[in-house]
Amino acid sequence: MPLVARDTGQGHRPAIVCDACGKDITRASDCSCVWFDQDGLSVLRFLHSSARCARIFEQHEEQVLPSNLSLTAILGDLGSSMAIDWDAVIAQTAVVKRSLDSTHDDEEA
Ligand SMILES: [Zn+2]
Repeated sequence: MPLVARDTGQGHRPAIVCDACGKDITRASDCSCVWFDQDGLSVLRFLHSSARCARIFEQHEEQVLPSNLSLTAILGDLGSSMAIDWDAVIAQTAVVKRSLDSTHDDEEA
C-alpha cells in the first residue's frame, strides 16, 4: 500500500511508502515505479531508486513486468488518462507550500 496519509500533528498529508523497505520516499527523484504481477492483476509498486531496494524486488523477478518508470512519468501518464487539470494542480501546490512555509515560520518564531 504505497500511498498513505501521514499524521503530521497538524493534519494528514499524503506520502508514498517504498514497497521494498517500508520507509517513506521523500523525493520524486529517488522513486522508481514498477508494474508487479499480483494474482493476474498488474499493480504499480513504488520503491526507492537505490540498489538495496531494487535488489529486494529482484527476488521476485518473475512477477515484475518489464517497466521501470520515474514517478514523474507515472504522474504525467495518469494525468493524461484522467484529464487532470494541471493548472489547478499547480495552484493547489502553491497553496500547500504557503501553508507549510507559514507553519514552519510559526515554529521558528
Ligand atoms: Zn526503499
